[in-house]
Amino acid sequence: MAYVFPAPPQAVVPVAGSIDLFPVHRIYCVGRNYEEHAKEMGFTGREPPFFFAKPADALLPVAEGTGEMPYPPGTQNLHHEMELVVAIGRRGRQLAAANAAAHIWGYAAGLDMTRRDLQGEAKKLGRPWEIGKGFDFSAPISSITPIGRTGELTRGRIWLKVNGQIRQEADLSKMIWNVNETIEHLSKYFELMPGDLIFTGTPEGVAAVVPGDVLEGGVDGVGALRVKIAPPARD
Ligand code: MN
Repeated sequence: MAYVFPAPPQAVVPVAGSIDLFPVHRIYCVGRNYEEHAKEMGFTGREPPFFFAKPADALLPVAEGTGEMPYPPGTQNLHHEMELVVAIGRRGRQLAAANAAAHIWGYAAGLDMTRRDLQGEAKKLGRPWEIGKGFDFSAPISSITPIGRTGELTRGRIWLKVNGQIRQEADLSKMIWNVNETIEHLSKYFELMPGDLIFTGTPEGVAAVVPGDVLEGGVDGVGALRVKIAPPARD
């Protein structure tokens, strides 16, 4: 038995302050998890959390320096969404919020980049969000800091600058569903596995970026990343 072509490489994210790599299994994302962002997207009230996914190879790890994200095809409206990312290190399903933190391996800062025009069209037509959310390079991410170094995160500043101007700034305590509650909900529907990443939703201030823009964002106490939007990829 042999693979009929070389197996795809394992998606990984570097671990901060270490030469170790975190092997990625799946990427789950929470929709509308900060009240002011839910409002700017036209929603009010506390609805149960909902989830979508990105492929693991949509990651663009940026441990240091400036990462380059090619402007994706098929959109005229590429948006940034700065998010806290939770890295899962222990298998579990049907987890109670009170026990959820034991499954967290660490945290990172990530961008849930979104083709907003395609996502909007999908919403209107009742279609899946993949085309708006799950494209190549749609998940720039910092290195992962182990929870032993950060402690369990319930508050802290989350921020994003574009070309040096602040665009998003909020506190993790403003999440509608906190990390433990998010893990409780998600693990009702999926068995969480070591290597899973959870993008926990973005605060208000999402907006468009274009080639040449430099995004710099982070979560205080966790990490930061810097990404330049590059011209569209060409063959
Ligand atoms: Mn998001």
